[in-house]
Amino acid sequence: MTSVLWFRRDLRLADHPALTAAAASGDVVGLFVIDPVLWERSGPARRAWVAASIRALADATDGALVLRVGDPAVVLPEVVESVGATTVHVTGEVTPYGRRRDARVAAALTEVGATGHPSGTPYAVDPGTVRTQQGGPFQVFTPFSRAWRDHGWPDPLPAPNVEWRRMRNDAEATKLITDAIRDAPEAMPEAGEHAARTQWDRFRADALEDYDTARDLPAVEGTSRLSPYLKIGAIHPRQLLADVGKTSRYATEIAWRDFYADVLWNRPETAWSDLRPLAIPYDDPADDLEAWRTGTTGFPIVDAGMRQLAAEGWMHNRVRMITASFLTKDLHAWWPTGARFFLDQLIDGDVASNNHGWQWVAGTGTDASPYFRVFNPITQGKKFDADGDYVRRWVPELAHLPGSAVHEPWKHPLGYEGDYPRPIVDHAVERQVTLDRYAARER
Ligand SMILES: Cc1cc2nc3c(=O)[nH]c(=O)nc-3n(C[C@H](O)[C@H](O)[C@H](O)COP(=O)(O)OP(=O)(O)OC[C@H]3O[C@@H](n4cnc5c(N)ncnc54)[C@H](O)[C@@H]3O)c2cc1C
Repeated sequence: MTSVLWFRRDLRLADHPALTAAAASGDVVGLFVIDPVLWERSGPARRAWVAASIRALADATDGALVLRVGDPAVVLPEVVESVGATTVHVTGEVTPYGRRRDARVAAALTEVGATGHPSGTPYAVDPGTVRTQQGGPFQVFTPFSRAWRDHGWPDPLPAPNVEWRRMRNDAEATKLITDAIRDAPEAMPEAGEHAARTQWDRFRADALEDYDTARDLPAVEGTSRLSPYLKIGAIHPRQLLADVGKTSRYATEIAWRDFYADVLWNRPETAWSDLRPLAIPYDDPADDLEAWRTGTTGFPIVDAGMRQLAAEGWMHNRVRMITASFLTKDLHAWWPTGARFFLDQLIDGDVASNNHGWQWVAGTGTDASPYFRVFNPITQGKKFDADGDYVRRWVPELAHLPGSAVHEPWKHPLGYEGDYPRPIVDHAVERQVTLDRYAARER
């Protein structure tokens, strides 16, 4: 019996419970629907990454992936009726938009006598599953991660043998994909399940051993760079956890990803509003915001990060924290301004990890993160990019400066030879402004 596998954030063939279920019941229509609401809302970088990932999956199915454009609540019933299927298999979705959309699609499928069958989610442990002893959601990471490890997850599944049922592709979908890939960041990595596995094998061979220490150094290839693949489901966290074990430091980072998805599942409104409002005034930084976006603030580590983001559609975690702190605490912007920009630029842009990462930095989010912590971009640069290699790589105007001198061009006689901008703010002054705003709130 024919069934439909509706691919969304699960663009792979191995360890795919929904695909395994579909393949067990007969031939399978593998379908990707370009939803104009999501497509137009994504920035060019994220769109390019999704498009390249779809193309890689189409290649992996030897062209059997069926592409359509439109509202899934319209497209799914049409496809189901045209092949005489009654079942649509999916990986469960947990984002606020995804949940609303899936409810609409389920209702539309009922109208044509079909049903949706979710299997699993893009997370090791499905969001909403891990609870406190009182039965409520966790708001603090460490106890969540303990309960998450205790809960555990199944072993990965092998890729099933699939008898694909072919259908003609929508020409508009093919064009949208080609156009989107044309706008890719210049150094976007190779997309797809095979590339994800290759990257994982490379990381395990070269960097996993030193991950604990090297993960904070942006000049070093010390992290796995798997976030874009995890985002689109080219690889599943279960597959990674099976290799590294649940007690490893790497597993803790995967737990952060699951934690933020769990927080968002329990509190969907916190996608764009404060989890714990600070009730302080925020500024509209106008011209300074543009300097932040374009990596021309005059603070070398901040500018290096923003330029890496533009070139690769990815930024190192330490530098995400530094650049986010600069926008929220030196320029006094409310975090959604930066979160929106990151989501548009990042190929791993993910509303749970991104928006709660921003809230953690801004001090409005989960955990007892000290809202009064203001990162000093100069000392952060000197500590985590001690030799200055990261800044020299991304800020050519400073490439002539030796060692850690790149972090303080104002102290070097040749600091501004390369036409690098002067700092747009005085960090000490802006730090005090932030602290004064917090203090006024406490009185
Ligand atoms: C302001 C800000 C915005 C962020 N936006 C995103 C985003 O849009 N998408 C995204 O995937 N991550 C985001 N992160 C988290 C983190 O920066 C990235 O997951 C990480 O840099 C990805 O690189 P990697 O795969 O080499 O990480 P690794 O160090 O190799 O970690 C392995 C995996 O663990 C997960 N992980 C690691 N750190 C975190 C974290 N702090 N929060 C959640 N998951 C984590 C990721 O899935 C990552 O791929 C953000 C962090 C901050 C501070």
